[in-house]
Amino acid sequence: MALNARLDHRNPLVFDTHELGRRPGALQRLTRTVDAPRDLGIKEVVGVPEGTPVELDLRLESVMEGVLVTGTARAKAEGECVRCLEPLELELEADFQEMFSYPDADDRGRVIAEPGDDAEDDEDRLFIEDGLFDLEPVLRDAVVLALPMQPVCQEDCPGLCSECGARLADDPDHHHDAVDIRWAALQGLAGTMKDGEKDEMSGAEPGVDEKQEK
Ligand SMILES: [Zn+2]
Ligand SMILES: [Zn+2]
Repeated sequence: MALNARLDHRNPLVFDTHELGRRPGALQRLTRTVDAPRDLGIKEVVGVPEGTPVELDLRLESVMEGVLVTGTARAKAEGECVRCLEPLELELEADFQEMFSYPDADDRGRVIAEPGDDAEDDEDRLFIEDGLFDLEPVLRDAVVLALPMQPVCQEDCPGLCSECGARLADDPDHHHDAVDIRWAALQGLAGTMKDGEKDEMSGAEPGVDEKQEK
């Protein structure tokens, strides 16, 4: 977690834990609707457009080493069907749970170094800073996990016609005179078979029949 910038309590994704008062067991529930930050989702596949409302339901629980945050995010995501390329919209519901540690305590509540002193160890840990925590990285991870990697407009989307690119869901009876073409091709093939049959039969490539030496 980047600790270079101080958390700004005016950022809608920054939450204040002061009300919990560092009393283990204290609980706080809150809901907040925020504008989706940029690039919330799976890049170029499906995501929540920037500025779209994201409803957050949070439960903050004070524990020894920090604040355990459990919550759900709901929003509308937009993308494109991977089969037929039509734009699609889906209701996203992403659950998450994350521990935000007090910077001066480890998992057992023991005092440890300040965050940032050992970047390796602290890399995956999230901290409370001045009583505030930033939900954004948690929200991002949860949204990506909750979104389909291969979104489809409908479970059985038939995709596009391989011959002309038409969207088959719009036109279930769509077909080309492929049968006739194939039939003609077969007939053509039958003709050449007759002519070339002999060659085909005796035309095994030299070498194929030879025993392979080991
Ligand atoms: Zn589709
Ligand atoms: Zn077609």
